[in-house]
Amino acid sequence: MNALPDLAQADDETLQAAIAEASIPTLMNTLVHLTGDPSMIRSDIKVSPNVFADNHGGISPSDQTRIREQALPLIKAFRDNGGEPVPLDEGIIREMIQFMTGMEMESGYVDFLQSELSLDDVAAFEQPALETIDRDRLKDFSVLVIGAGMSGILTAIKLKEAGIAYSVIEKNADVGGTWFQNTYPGCRVDSPNHTYSYSFAPRDWPNYYSPQPVLLEYFQSVAKDYDIRDKIQFDTEVERAEYDVTAKCWRVTVRESGGNTKVLEANAVVSAVGQLNRPRYPDIPGMGSFKGPTFHSGEWEHQHDLSGKRVIVIGTGASAFQFTPIVAEKADSVTIFQRTPPWVAPRAEYHDEIPEGEHWLLNQLPFYDAWFRFFQFWRTSEGVLASATRDEAWNESGSISHANHMLRELLTENARRIVGEENELFGKVVPDYPPAGKRMLVDNGTWYRALTRDNVEVVTDPIARITQDGVVTESGRNVEGDVLVYGTGFQASNFMSPMQIVGRDGVEIHGRWDGEPRAYMGMTYPYYPNFFSIYGPNTNLVVNGSIIFFSECQVRYILGCIAQLLIGDQQSIEPTIEAFESHNEWIDRGNLQMAWGSPNVRSWYKNANGRVTQNWPFSLREFWEKTHAPDLQHFMLE
Ligand code: NAP
Repeated sequence: MNALPDLAQADDETLQAAIAEASIPTLMNTLVHLTGDPSMIRSDIKVSPNVFADNHGGISPSDQTRIREQALPLIKAFRDNGGEPVPLDEGIIREMIQFMTGMEMESGYVDFLQSELSLDDVAAFEQPALETIDRDRLKDFSVLVIGAGMSGILTAIKLKEAGIAYSVIEKNADVGGTWFQNTYPGCRVDSPNHTYSYSFAPRDWPNYYSPQPVLLEYFQSVAKDYDIRDKIQFDTEVERAEYDVTAKCWRVTVRESGGNTKVLEANAVVSAVGQLNRPRYPDIPGMGSFKGPTFHSGEWEHQHDLSGKRVIVIGTGASAFQFTPIVAEKADSVTIFQRTPPWVAPRAEYHDEIPEGEHWLLNQLPFYDAWFRFFQFWRTSEGVLASATRDEAWNESGSISHANHMLRELLTENARRIVGEENELFGKVVPDYPPAGKRMLVDNGTWYRALTRDNVEVVTDPIARITQDGVVTESGRNVEGDVLVYGTGFQASNFMSPMQIVGRDGVEIHGRWDGEPRAYMGMTYPYYPNFFSIYGPNTNLVVNGSIIFFSECQVRYILGCIAQLLIGDQQSIEPTIEAFESHNEWIDRGNLQMAWGSPNVRSWYKNANGRVTQNWPFSLREFWEKTHAPDLQHFMLE
């Protein structure tokens, strides 16, 4: 990309070229912001509430042209008048938010969205005020963070900013977590990058949804820029953390790369180990007998050239749907064993690079970046939640409400358009469970098109066993292959495993859970004082949003808990049993109302008893509100 001229230097051609590549709803709100005149968003041109519409919010091509024509003189005037935006009153900003979402919403919601929009440069996730802490108290206090992936880096940065001593233990050789480990072909983020980034570290992303190397580089550079790398001990794995009741501290046993173990001490521990990094292999008879290369998507063996090979893929989840189309381009054949088809949400720009004109707008035109991020945030988070929520009166199979049914129609139409209803494949790829029952895949058609290739076959006959030559199905079909790839997901429900976490009563947490992992707010645990987790039980998002948003809420809350220890000169904090139990009852009731809680859906979100252990069933707004600060009535401080 060429160097971008700033607004004052930009000639009319530059403006015109940029406007030609603008997202129209983003451009419209930006223009209101620059001129102070809301008439443009009060016209007959409206954004569609359909969140799967394109980057122009479903605005017709002729209306797009009208807006572009109006935009050029307005931006030229703004440039020529010195580029000073007009302050807007609250009411107009609310109107702009409602215009962009295409819907009316209650005022509490608008407050939340306004904060997410962060127009006034107030940090979206304000940290607890720690200025009043006695500096001597800080000298004796330290936090040990486990993991240097997305949430561990974030925790370290926020602890450092708060002036709290910390160290980070990371099992890998570098930062990045899931983005360090998952290197399979086609790996890329499935939340828009402008929302899948820390609120305090925006980036001029090359793509709307960037590939894995770009994400890894982002986390590496943030760790470097915020100068936390020297506090990270790499190639070291935490084996056990045990609370010492007498000393009121955690003793953490770590194994270093050479095999040595040592015990570290910390006043508090934050587990930021993620969920999607320990491969889960299925339990299929004959596994291990296949004589060709065999590997898991999360441990891709790049040394094998798949050109001209007969590749067998097991699984059709978020990983397989990304690597299979690329493998199919070079392999002789790809046979995919599908147990359950995924729902696929259309996203036209999924593989697109951000064009130069839109880069210019994002970097040079005031407010365009904020409104762009906000538009992405809405379309892929709160905007989708209603269609994943059950209506008790609804009794059509395959959907759980009218909105969910409409979503089903829209996604089915997408499959019909690409695969064709007459194609036998169509019957295989349209799920019978409600949309949003599992993680929906975001795609621009690449997956369905790959499945229609002559060298690709989707087999739905269940696998009976694996042999040295391939896979035998239950109906007796023998599928031979040269390479076997497992796209079968991760050991997500085994939270924090294989670490052992021993609480103040000497009980190890997995034993206490007995297959039913639970936390209070997903972050704290009775009997485990000063122990916190990020991305713990019931903090995963299915349809609604970026997990970085959630992690920022969690780190703010955890720092709020730690602040209580330091400000109040307390030694330990843990949730009460009552708060823990009522929180979990509330979560369980909530999950039963959601598509992913439906009894006919099997997914990694549920445990062996069918309980949803992974997901937050409510809105981002509710989590954001509840994580402003810990409610001390729900905690015991000592
Ligand atoms: P996954 O979504 O759990 O998918 C595993 C697949 O393997 C499913 O299709 C599953 O079928 C199938 N499977 C498991 N055991 C099987 C068996 N015995 N026989 C046949 N099929 C079997 O795993 P994933 O694709 O690795 O994704 C995991 C999560 O990682 C995602 O939900 C997402 O949150 C995240 N992810 C994100 C991205 C991204 O773009 N950012 C990319 C990859 C992954 P069933 O559905 O029937 O169980």
